Amino acid sequence: MEIVGFDPTLSGVQREVAEHVALAYATCPRCGQRDPATVEELRKDRRNIAILTYGVMLGIAVGSYFVPWIAIGFFALMLVPFLVELVRRPRARLVVHVGFSLGWLVLACMFSRYAFVLPAVAIIQLVLKRSDPEEADRPFREGAAKLRFL
Ligand SMILES: [Zn+2]
Repeated sequence: MEIVGFDPTLSGVQREVAEHVALAYATCPRCGQRDPATVEELRKDRRNIAILTYGVMLGIAVGSYFVPWIAIGFFALMLVPFLVELVRRPRARLVVHVGFSLGWLVLACMFSRYAFVLPAVAIIQLVLKRSDPEEADRPFREGAAKLRFL
């Protein structure tokens, strides 16, 4: 087995780490199996991220029912990186995204009694957004491109 496209300047330890990562995402050339430990680890990672995201959103939804500024402040903060990116490299999609988000924030400020609708909508969007199998497969595809079995 050989790893393709390795940086020849890597030190021994760096090379070992890179090999370890490449092997973790390898697919068996005979039976097409993936490393069960890696698959399990990725599943756990996804689950933990989902629990954290839903937990935070639910907390914000409940909290902002009583203190509307929690939701307004949170979504305003979430918008900051998009604003920075918009100033750096303006793109049509970004303008639309920031525009809509600002619109929602202005509405939330005007009708702050209903600011909890923002995180509630975010939760619904999370539920509706199916996980992308292409995206989940990406590290394995990259791993397969890197490994050559001799
Ligand atoms: Zn096999």
